[in-house]
Amino acid sequence: MADSRLELRAGERVFSEGDPPTCAYLIESGHIEIVTLQDGAPLVLSVLGEGDLLGEMAIIDAAPRTATARALTDSVLIPVDGKQLSERIESSDPIVRALLKGQLTRYRQALLSLRAGHPGALELSGKGKRFVDGDGYDDGAVAKIRLETQLRDALSTGTLEVRFQPIYDIAAERIAGYEALVRWTHPVRGPISPAEFISLAEETSLILPVGQYVLDRVAEGLAELQRLGVRPLPFVAVNMSGRQLGELDMLSAIRESSQRNGIDPRLIKIEVTESLTLDVERVGELIRRAEAEGMMVALDDFGTGHSNLGHLHKLRFNTIKLDQGFVRQMLEAPRCHAVVRAIVAMVHALEADLVAEGVETRAQLDALAAMKCKYAQGYLIGRPQTFSEMLANHPLEQTSG
Ligand code: C2E
Ligand code: CA
Ligand code: CA
Repeated sequence: MADSRLELRAGERVFSEGDPPTCAYLIESGHIEIVTLQDGAPLVLSVLGEGDLLGEMAIIDAAPRTATARALTDSVLIPVDGKQLSERIESSDPIVRALLKGQLTRYRQALLSLRAGHPGALELSGKGKRFVDGDGYDDGAVAKIRLETQLRDALSTGTLEVRFQPIYDIAAERIAGYEALVRWTHPVRGPISPAEFISLAEETSLILPVGQYVLDRVAEGLAELQRLGVRPLPFVAVNMSGRQLGELDMLSAIRESSQRNGIDPRLIKIEVTESLTLDVERVGELIRRAEAEGMMVALDDFGTGHSNLGHLHKLRFNTIKLDQGFVRQMLEAPRCHAVVRAIVAMVHALEADLVAEGVETRAQLDALAAMKCKYAQGYLIGRPQTFSEMLANHPLEQTSG
């Protein structure tokens, strides 16, 4: 705001060493020097100019000013509310907070060594605990950075693994396809659930090479089945994350990986989770382009969280995957049974196929068969398997009964 501007003449102080931190400043014009005392003599730490932020360190650190700021020339500053900054820091990514903490620690240490032996040295350890130390954030952030680095290593050394879980065509009584599920065996922690590391990878662009890695293993696997003369070739579904929707041309990636491996790209099906369908436009575009090339897109985890029937009629998915929660309760809860029956009918009316996930018992499979649900996936049919296990179990030739 215009009236909160601070106009300073050359030589005037903005704040002094030891002052409490009330606000930071944005330098609108002029130059400000930051000075500290070394053996009683002023030492210029830096000179800041137009567009620079001034005095934010003490806010981040919630500690008294560690240096004095003085206008070198006539200057105009805009005060930035300290609380506004600290709230942003508090709500920021723990990794960003850890980065800030690292910078602050280095700044404090540099100042301390500058002033070593100086009797007037400020107590620099500060109360700084408020935003970047303590409260456990920090440990979490460091653990995340470590895990992320190890995941990067796993990618480059090929120690991520892709498992294949069979998808059963109930009426035809045969395995029609597989879902590719990524696995990571951590060098120390052992197997880590994709639910944990996929969400970590999604926080950064790391999900893109993870997705590419899975895609390449899938295309290689299909090429191997093709080489062995498996007929018909099963489809393989790959999971696609939000970032992949925004930043990766999934269809081109599938096309390229298929071409490299000499397989038909239409064998690879994309699974999009329900939360992504909030981005109706992007998903709609993906489906349209996939359809034009004969490729399939499935809606994953249908019935959880964002179930939005308003989107379902706009988005022409080939396949809907019913979340495992329904199958789990279906036989105990008559109302759940009724809901599943209605969903089977609805998906049929939409001319899509339904995959029931989490089928663990024969009774569940029989109930789904009676409802004319097309596909079943779950431990009863098969667990996620390594490629060689999958090879051993998959018949060379199947009749499409
Ligand atoms: P999802 O896509 O819903 O995958 C199905 C999950 O259910 C898998 O867990 C699978 O192992 C598990 N499951 C299958 N049948 C049964 C059953 O009968 N009973 C029970 N209790 N569970 C069953 P998983 O492999 O731990 O994967 C968890 C999630 O991680 C996946 O859920 C998917 O959202 C994500 N994910 C896995 N691989 C990838 C990947 O390559 N890329 C991306 N973006 N996400 C992946
Ligand atoms: Ca899935
Ligand atoms: Ca699912």
